[in-house]
Amino acid sequence: MSHSPPFFVGLDIGGTTVKSILIDSTGATVGGMVEVRSLVKEGFESTFSQLELALDQLTTGAGIERSEIGGIGLDVPAPSSEGVIWAQANLGSDWVGTNIRDRLSERLGRVPVYMTNDGNAAALGEYAVRPDQAGSLLLVSPGTGLGGGMVLSGGRAWEGANGLALEVGHISVPNREQDGSLPECSCGKSGCLEAWVSLVALRRRVSLELAKPEHVDHPLNDGSSAEEKAFRLREFAEKGDELAVSIFRQQGRILGYGLADLVRVFDPGLVVIGGGLAETRFRDHYLEWIIEGFLERAWPVYWRSPINPDQPTTRFEWAKGGDSAAALGVAFAARDRFS
Ligand SMILES: [Zn+2]
Repeated sequence: MSHSPPFFVGLDIGGTTVKSILIDSTGATVGGMVEVRSLVKEGFESTFSQLELALDQLTTGAGIERSEIGGIGLDVPAPSSEGVIWAQANLGSDWVGTNIRDRLSERLGRVPVYMTNDGNAAALGEYAVRPDQAGSLLLVSPGTGLGGGMVLSGGRAWEGANGLALEVGHISVPNREQDGSLPECSCGKSGCLEAWVSLVALRRRVSLELAKPEHVDHPLNDGSSAEEKAFRLREFAEKGDELAVSIFRQQGRILGYGLADLVRVFDPGLVVIGGGLAETRFRDHYLEWIIEGFLERAWPVYWRSPINPDQPTTRFEWAKGGDSAAALGVAFAARDRFS
């Protein structure tokens, strides 16, 4: 009988840091999260050296040998397919077109490596911290952009035929500016969900609103940059400022429009909202605004069962995996594949 090594590692590569975690075959974390700089701009070999550093810290901390690691899960902040990254995003140029998964596996003595993007990893992490979740889970994370991922019942990420699935930020939503125009998106198209629901969208919205005559005396009209205004908008919304609340309410509702379409396609049962808004004091309201938009677009059956009206057909929750969710998610994915 073959005996597989009992430990698995999750490595979440971000633009500035790598978050890493060690789990055993039951899924329990061994030791805490280890964080090192990612050095992604310096090329993938520099990042690989940092990954080795993280691995050494994890194994030393747990008192185990490198040979006891049965598999590694890895996520990258860029679209990839079968271990190959096909768009640079925030990485150095040599990441694109290289089989990162196989190169890392070779460097680490042919330990099996599972690789996916950061959206899928975060969704896998939210699934991992909900052991009672029997069905599937859809995650959307409003941040600088709008990331997303989906995990199917049983714990596999829905990656699509080419690793291109769940680009939720770039579905179109039925919303226009007052003059009928569509906002431009970072992807080069216009009218995408992300162009309404992201930090970048917030900057544009704040500038547009503050330029209106009725808001000329608003305290945010103080000569600060759009970045700064968007940043301070949260604090204003927490104090109940009318303009700030209306901007977040619009954002939440439009996210609800997008979720209505996604839920119609996937019927996930559980929608998890990630990103920094989870830490705001108005988060309960934000969730209500999402549901408000969702109910404007989705049929009632996607909200409550027509047979049993007390039974929700779609539940909405904030993410609860914290900043180690993605690392944990890919560690679980590695365990499920390689044990
Ligand atoms: Zn787009």
